[in-house]
Amino acid sequence: MDPACSQHKNNEVFFIYSDKDEESPEESPQSAQLESTEISTQTMRSSTDRRAMLTKLPLIPGIVLHHKKRKKTKFMNWKRYHRLNVIYSFLEDLERDFPAICTVSVIGKSVEGRSIKMLKISNSNAANEAIWVDAAIHSREWISTAVVTYIANYIVKNFKSLPSSITDKDWHIVPVLNPDGYEYTHTRDRMWRKNRARYGGKCCGVDLNRNFSYGWGNNGEEGSSKEPTSVFYRGPEPFSEPESMAVRDTILGSTTPFKVFLSFHSYFELIIFPWGCRDEIPPDYLNLLEGGAVMSRAIYETNGKSYKVGNTKDLTYTACGTSTDWSYSIAKIPYSYMVELRSRKYRFRLPKEQIIETCTEIWNGLSSFMEYVDDH
Ligand SMILES: [Zn+2]
Repeated sequence: MDPACSQHKNNEVFFIYSDKDEESPEESPQSAQLESTEISTQTMRSSTDRRAMLTKLPLIPGIVLHHKKRKKTKFMNWKRYHRLNVIYSFLEDLERDFPAICTVSVIGKSVEGRSIKMLKISNSNAANEAIWVDAAIHSREWISTAVVTYIANYIVKNFKSLPSSITDKDWHIVPVLNPDGYEYTHTRDRMWRKNRARYGGKCCGVDLNRNFSYGWGNNGEEGSSKEPTSVFYRGPEPFSEPESMAVRDTILGSTTPFKVFLSFHSYFELIIFPWGCRDEIPPDYLNLLEGGAVMSRAIYETNGKSYKVGNTKDLTYTACGTSTDWSYSIAKIPYSYMVELRSRKYRFRLPKEQIIETCTEIWNGLSSFMEYVDDH
């Protein structure tokens, strides 16, 4: 049985998240499988059993219960990859410990009802411009979430000593944009890329990075796919998915103008920008190229890693309905990039020993890039 999908299919099923689950490191495959404990009404045979359960936990059919008592997770670090609950606890701990600059909000709910959480870091300066940072729109790209949480942590913990190019910004950081897929890669299928949408009566998933409106469905099967079984399935219409809608509504609903949009992926080691679905170069080509080159140079100077810079279609392949084509054209965010992290060698399974190196090179790349953005 698929625990995630069962939440909405069967009201007779209860889900309990225990303290043990809350702190399960992702390496333990058994604890990963036991992400949730299902107790059917049949298993609670007597009313005594049932009462005993109810006195411990206020069970409501079909509702995911979380412990109210929030304790500091012991497991957030950049030595390994983490489950969603650890990442979300980390965000909430930042908000609790740094309330003057951190706010956590839920910008939407996934197909299966999981919260899509965003950390906003801001000194509340009215002149700030906004920065968008997301990860794990493709769920198997775990290093993206590790890098984005590292960036959040670094900014918050070093806020007083960082330059204004970082601190005079409203950071909008979404470490897991596709939480259903992300959990699925931890529990069932490490190589799952899409969300967990159901079309045609079964869970086929939509490639969220083909579900944005700009150029959606262009170039036929070359830029995305109309076939639900394809890894590039674009969905039945633009923004058919709650995860892509959450990005659109947060950005278009913001009163602060966005200047930078960074979507982290893996594993091509590239810094790419629009267009993904057009042949010509974008109007801001030179600035996008130069900003990307500044980032790439700082990455190279950190660990000797070379990230190529260029427009998406030239460096990868035709991709239509991507978030960066949308953010650049519709949301008018001039510095819109996809950053493809390590590694070409290990593909999606980047060894955990390389997490911290990847984080530090990207942090250096980002901080140099932010200086460039402020100067242009
Ligand atoms: Zn990706």
